[in-house]
Amino acid sequence: MTTDGPSIFTRIIGGEIPADVVLDTERLIAFRDIAPQAPVHLLVVPKTDAYATVAELAAGDPALLAELVATASALAAEHADGDYRLVFNSGPAAGQTVFHVHAHVLAGGLEEGTLA
Ligand code: IMP
Repeated sequence: MTTDGPSIFTRIIGGEIPADVVLDTERLIAFRDIAPQAPVHLLVVPKTDAYATVAELAAGDPALLAELVATASALAAEHADGDYRLVFNSGPAAGQTVFHVHAHVLAGGLEEGTLA
């Protein structure tokens, strides 16, 4: 959680900012990335804003992390051929820009070496 107000993802979850939502469950939301890096580029986001990074989520709620991974896999099967790359950027130097944990699901004709 950041100290400078709700994250952009919390605002999407709250319906304040529109998003192309592909899945909405009790604890997770998934929507299309606004700047796709692959033919299918989804973000899977826990609704709680308690965790900024995947390591925090793993420590604080491992069951929710497992649910997120299973959901990412199911979405890759639904939106592409089932093969996918799962990316968690952790920390600014790794390219993390939204400090509300999220997984990038990249699928559908990935280029060799492509990373989000
Ligand atoms: P990060 O760089 O791993 O933190 O990923 C943040 C991602 O959120 C980036 O890939 C952005 O393109 C994406 N993003 C930022 N704002 C929005 C939005 O309003 N809708 C959908 N995706 C967004």
